[in-house]
Amino acid sequence: MKQLPIRLRLTLWYFAVFSCAGIVLCVVSWFLLQQSLKTVALYEMGERIDDVHNILNAQPQNITLDSLREQFSGYNARDDGKWLQILDQNGNWLFRSERIKSIQPTLPLPQTIRDRDTITKFAYATRHHPERSGIALIRTITVHGRLYSVQTGLSQSTSAALLETFARDLVLLTPGLLFLAAILGYWMSRKALSPIAELALRARQISDKSLNLRLPVSDTNDEVSHLSETLNQMLARIDSGVRSIREFTANAAHELRTPLALIRTEVEVILSFPRSKDEYRESYANVQQETIRMTRLIDDLLMLARTDAGVETLHLEAINVTQFVHQIGRKWGALMQQSLLEFDIEVLCTTAYIAGDLISLQRLMHILLENACRCTPAGGSIKLRAFVENENIVLEVSDTGIGIAAEHLPRIFERFYRVDQARSRQLGGSGLGLALAKLIAAHHRATLTVASDVGAGTRFRLTIEQQKNVDAYLQENCSVLSEKAYTAF
Ligand code: ATP
Ligand code: MG
Repeated sequence: MKQLPIRLRLTLWYFAVFSCAGIVLCVVSWFLLQQSLKTVALYEMGERIDDVHNILNAQPQNITLDSLREQFSGYNARDDGKWLQILDQNGNWLFRSERIKSIQPTLPLPQTIRDRDTITKFAYATRHHPERSGIALIRTITVHGRLYSVQTGLSQSTSAALLETFARDLVLLTPGLLFLAAILGYWMSRKALSPIAELALRARQISDKSLNLRLPVSDTNDEVSHLSETLNQMLARIDSGVRSIREFTANAAHELRTPLALIRTEVEVILSFPRSKDEYRESYANVQQETIRMTRLIDDLLMLARTDAGVETLHLEAINVTQFVHQIGRKWGALMQQSLLEFDIEVLCTTAYIAGDLISLQRLMHILLENACRCTPAGGSIKLRAFVENENIVLEVSDTGIGIAAEHLPRIFERFYRVDQARSRQLGGSGLGLALAKLIAAHHRATLTVASDVGAGTRFRLTIEQQKNVDAYLQENCSVLSEKAYTAF
């Protein structure tokens, strides 16, 4: 079911809550008014009985019934809508107000009632109103040893009319008030949501060209300010992501332009005038070298892009560390010799295994050895070692080369970062090697660290978990590791 807009939902909620509260308030006020009217009536009737008590008390003890009747005969003058009748203990009337004569309510004699106030309701009819009701207060009083029943009553028509008018006014007023509440609710929800609308407006102004803009954050420390902060943090992440993609693209284009320009120059020279066989050979060799360099660069870029997109998968297998190290050593031995470098291999964990993607790990070791080879002057030495440390296998490549200054160390794993731009490019480096190596290490949940001293040499260490029971591990973790590798990175 389609949800209503939040503004409308808030209005409806406000309206519903206000309506319930309004209805409860009306009903409660009506009841309270009714109770108050009754309390006031009883209070007034109580006062009247007290008056009668005082009058009786003021009479001499042996006063006759007729004299008493005479005493009360002028009492009608104070009949202000309430009636009064007084009986003595023998059932003789001392006084009956004019009003009660027409109503004739049946009321008990003093002997038969208990010695406390009794409140009763009674019905009566007048010429114009056949169904009227009243309320009576009856009290037995003792004066000079004689019992009297003082009975006073009051028609409820005034309070009924008052209550009726009050209820009618409420019924008439309530819909108007509820309508007002709905409008107020709509206005309030608009007002409450206006900071969000403002945020949406500002957010719409932010495009890929203006990712440096941020949303305003109020100091109200409420949900809206938290939302703005969260969105700003998200924008900062997107901004840095987009910036690094732009940098990456610009760097990639720049790196590709250099070999392409060289190839173009070389071809232009070849085409410009006829040359000797050796000159052609040399030019084509240059072109070939540049295309090799370009291919390598594109391979690296592709692998980084595939990994960023999360489509690269690891093919885990059990790798015997000794075999792995010697295989790499065989490949690099001849190259080191050509570069006049001493190359040592040392394996101190002959039966150890690791779980990994063989091709990726070989690539990682090639990156480290290639760097060591490039950065170590002729006559220097390079060591490839494998040993166990804290239950982990450490694969270490150390050299006695030029070393890396401390200020460059934190950045050398960044993409396209080179300590000496010109020298590295001259040697065919594009600054992607260590970034890739770090990525491969992360995929294997391994760590790649560096330590270096300028002029003394550099040492890279890959620390990877040793697998004691390789087959069981591979069976358990193969798919999990391949999937998790990317999220871990
Ligand atoms: P690529 O590997 O992509 O061909 P590159 O070798 O320049 O290019 P990285 O392998 O990422 O790039 O290395 C980054 C930088 O770190 C290098 O340019 C180099 O300056 C420095 N570096 C790496 N290894 C060593 C080392 N063993 N000794 C001294 N400096 C090194
Ligand atoms: Mg390199």
